[in-house]
Amino acid sequence: MDNYVAARSVSFATLAGALGIELTHFKRSKDEWVGPCPRHKPKNNKACFRYKDDGLFNCFVCLKDFCGRGSIDFYKAYTGAGFQAAVEFLTPLGISTPAQQKTAPERDSEATEEPKPFTGKYAKHFVENDWLKKRLPDAAVRERYGIGFYSNPARKSKVSNHVLIPIKDPAGVQYGWLARNPVPLEGQPKYIWPTGLPKNRFLFGGYELSQAYQLPVRVVYLVESPLCVMKFASMSLPAVSPFGWNVSDEQLHLLSTLAKGTVYLPDRNKHCEGACVAARLSAQVWCRFPELPQGHDDPEHLSLEQIQALTR
Ligand SMILES: [Zn+2]
Repeated sequence: MDNYVAARSVSFATLAGALGIELTHFKRSKDEWVGPCPRHKPKNNKACFRYKDDGLFNCFVCLKDFCGRGSIDFYKAYTGAGFQAAVEFLTPLGISTPAQQKTAPERDSEATEEPKPFTGKYAKHFVENDWLKKRLPDAAVRERYGIGFYSNPARKSKVSNHVLIPIKDPAGVQYGWLARNPVPLEGQPKYIWPTGLPKNRFLFGGYELSQAYQLPVRVVYLVESPLCVMKFASMSLPAVSPFGWNVSDEQLHLLSTLAKGTVYLPDRNKHCEGACVAARLSAQVWCRFPELPQGHDDPEHLSLEQIQALTR
């Protein structure tokens, strides 16, 4: 049970009001405030700071000095106060009802039950697929990671005609499949993650890395998607993916067992939020966080030379 639901529920608008921050921020999308940074108070830059309704906030000028998640983090970073002081200040401003408690976003809410190894026989129904072959031409890499295109007309499944990507623990035990819809139609999700499986516990490519290299490796590339990991592997570059741009504490720990350092390469549209992740990574391993070359939004499409140039 979370005793700090009320403190955590305080919205950005309420925070700003209570802390005397002039609210010139605007809603860029339905769940994101953007505006000048309340900490370093820029004269001209009116869009360096963002606060999302799920609590994630960061300033791409202050970087690790002003980023975090939720009203408690925000209060601490803004005022320099400790956790207890933050809770005392915020609790009266928040709302705490049973319904609120149920829906309040919790960082570890996924990790309630121990995940169980997966026993389905999906790989028996892997078929040739042009999209997958084009995206990942190296057949040896596809085989090594166990990825395939699943099509089983005899069985109705929401992951039929999807590319299936194995989700394994560091020992190589599989816990399920991440399904990638090659060509999502309007309203269809690009990815389907197995229900109930805690994503924050898995790091794609960790097991394969341990099979190919002596651990810890000097440096591992940290990229958003498993497909990008495999693309890097086909260029003999060691890479892992936290199944997204963000990295959980568990994934951070896993990473520190695999490599001494990391080159963190989220997609371009996550470069701002990524500053916060890079700061957390730096606390565990040495970390480089280079910007992608001009004209590139996704590291999956970089050449070997371009990737090597990033770390020179
Ligand atoms: Zn700032």
